[in-house]
Amino acid sequence: MFKIYSYLPTKIIFKVGAINELYKHIKGLGKKALIVTGKSSTKKNGSLQKVQEQLEKENIEYIVFDKIIPNPISTTVDEAAEICRKEKIDFVIGLGGGSAVDSSKAIAITAPNLGKFWDYVPVGGGKIPEKALPIIAIPTTHGTGTEADPFSVITNPLTREKVGIGYDNTFPKISIVDPELMKTLPQNQTAYTSMDAFYHSIEAFFNINANPYSDVLALDAMKRIVSYLPIAYEKGDDIEARIHLSWASTEAGITETLTGVIANHALEHGLSGFYPDIPHGLGLCITGPYLFEYIFDHIFERLAIVGREVFGVYEADDKKAAKLAIKKLRDFQELFNLNKRLSELKVRKEDLKEIAKTGYRILKGVIAVTPGNINDEDMSQILKNCY
Ligand SMILES: [Zn+2]
Repeated sequence: MFKIYSYLPTKIIFKVGAINELYKHIKGLGKKALIVTGKSSTKKNGSLQKVQEQLEKENIEYIVFDKIIPNPISTTVDEAAEICRKEKIDFVIGLGGGSAVDSSKAIAITAPNLGKFWDYVPVGGGKIPEKALPIIAIPTTHGTGTEADPFSVITNPLTREKVGIGYDNTFPKISIVDPELMKTLPQNQTAYTSMDAFYHSIEAFFNINANPYSDVLALDAMKRIVSYLPIAYEKGDDIEARIHLSWASTEAGITETLTGVIANHALEHGLSGFYPDIPHGLGLCITGPYLFEYIFDHIFERLAIVGREVFGVYEADDKKAAKLAIKKLRDFQELFNLNKRLSELKVRKEDLKEIAKTGYRILKGVIAVTPGNINDEDMSQILKNCY
């Protein structure tokens, strides 16, 4: 039997050109905004300017905070929160990839409360943020699903803990998902972010709490990615491919909210907490197939469904279809050069045990919903298999 807990309070505007309608949705949110973004891509692709123009049109003052890096860190969040307090910011706009939008969520809960961001992290201070500034999410990548979930992934640079937090008040109030903004996403980012959405979907599909609501979205997202990632990878400005990949990311974000990811994300968080230069989507592609082999006996029936429905495997026997599904997944990843070994990425073998332990400790929640009852020793073995 299944259970469903559904709380999805975000107003999602999904369409080509949606960014030009931002002004309609920011009325009444306040007089001053903080735009949270990265150093260059939103300037290059013109999206920052579009946001600025619309704020000006509505006579809303703004400050641009453009210090967000991939795998964003808690000290940057604290710096931005301090600006919000001093400048009396009314709402935040996260513009960019998952790092920018996730950071805007973290800033939104830190600024109106006392202290620092890490005080509101379960493995940190463990406090619950009572208040939050309204959040507007404008993703420029199609992968994290942060536009449709409450989660924010931030790393503490001192402890190397890469955690995910999520509260009812960290859902974006409004998400503007405009596939037009994704057209300039570089080839490697196109692959990394799409595969992030793929793993949100497949992990939700294997989650012990999987249910018909998230299953239908998860399978649909995986199918869209398998059909359209090869197209967008070759021809970045193919708007049809970008529309399908953007929607795959958003629906995978909904699956994260409804059901959630499993241990593959704990393995990856452990890994990129130690090695922040490893892109999230690449890390997931490295560990994913090995995790699925490790817990094969517990997921083969569902893996067979993925094989048949997503990869067109024609095989009646579930175990055989499931094995073919893993092979097809590796073949698909190979198209984008994502089947790397950890040794190739200069990960030190002696770190694997500590990486597994950290991933296990900071993401216990996702381990608990992983079929097969795995522990940190199992995670360490999976990482060794990827080496
Ligand atoms: Zn992810």
